[in-house]
Amino acid sequence: MIDIKKYILDVEDFPQQGINFKDITPILNHPAVFQEVIDRMAAFVLECQADVIIAPEARGFLFASAIAYQTHKKFVLIRKPGKLPRATHHVSYDLEYGSNILEMHQDDIQANEKVVIIDDILATGGTIEAIVKLVELSHGQVVGLSVVGDLTTLHSPNLLKGLSFQALVKY
Ligand code: IMP
Repeated sequence: MIDIKKYILDVEDFPQQGINFKDITPILNHPAVFQEVIDRMAAFVLECQADVIIAPEARGFLFASAIAYQTHKKFVLIRKPGKLPRATHHVSYDLEYGSNILEMHQDDIQANEKVVIIDDILATGGTIEAIVKLVELSHGQVVGLSVVGDLTTLHSPNLLKGLSFQALVKY
């Protein structure tokens, strides 16, 4: 098994002073590493028996779209305000650095669909909490969360209660 941690680089003081940013782009620069990451995340999505894969822009899309292709699952986009063309649900959330609003098309998820969230890095969990709220607004059910890297000390363990969880790398 490839040591994926070697392909996530620490960048000090990015995007602002005091933040130690995890740069996942080397994974994308190494095809065998990217393939292993997608294979492992896709296997988790299948285990969860999800109907839908959902991911926030922008880095979540890189992984989720490849996983959706491999698993033949429906893929739903979570975007920043003003990017989605049709009627949206929206929720405010806090980031490790700053705050934002996330949106999802109102008709992208049907009632009772089972959803797995995909993202690159889990930090404070604010993004995940916002996505769970968006899915609930459409009466879907988040059953799982898969991330490439988990900054375990930045979020409460309660965040993962009731969810199947996969993190390929833990810090
Ligand atoms: P959270 O909402 O604080 O958990 O932050 C997670 C979101 O911010 C994810 O969508 C990540 O893409 C992004 N993010 C936060 N910290 C990092 C990092 O160190 N590297 C890459 N992305 C990050």
